[in-house]
Amino acid sequence: GLSLQAILETVEQAPVAISITDTRANILYVNSAFEELTGYSRDEICGQNESVLSCKTTPLELYRTLWRTIQSGKEWRGTLINRNKAGQRYLAEVTVAPVLDAQRNITNFLGMHRDISVIH
Ligand code: FAD
Repeated sequence: GLSLQAILETVEQAPVAISITDTRANILYVNSAFEELTGYSRDEICGQNESVLSCKTTPLELYRTLWRTIQSGKEWRGTLINRNKAGQRYLAEVTVAPVLDAQRNITNFLGMHRDISVIH
């Protein structure tokens, strides 16, 4: 099979912005596409909350639904208005999924998003 190093390189080079957080959305890891899309380097974004990406215009109810869904162990998909480091807004197609251990406890969340501002 694949070595752990090869799996890591695959996540690192995946052509979608990937972040892994703790159970409160504090960022622990981002891949290279995340750095490129958001303008944040991994050193400056790790330790911050995913809410730094929020441009604060998304209705609160949407975030409540997101959290209710992921805390019940399911994945959530939706469109959020995000803000990059420079303060520019972009439309993000976001998937957030819980990562479960063998006892089905949520240990982390996985976030994946892409910029859909420009429709081809
Ligand atoms: P807040 O006041 O922090 O939250 C708004 C509402 O969300 C709260 O009233 C509450 O109902 C709920 N909520 C927030 N934190 C928690 C918690 N720890 N437990 C239970 N309920 C909670 N947001 C984006 O805007 N863009 C993203 O790209 C994005 N990606 C995410 C990726 C992952 C892996 C995860 C786990 C979350 C992501 N979020 C993202 C959601 C983000 O964590 C914030 O909840 C959101 O940005 C709202 O932040 P806020 O400061 O505006 O409002």
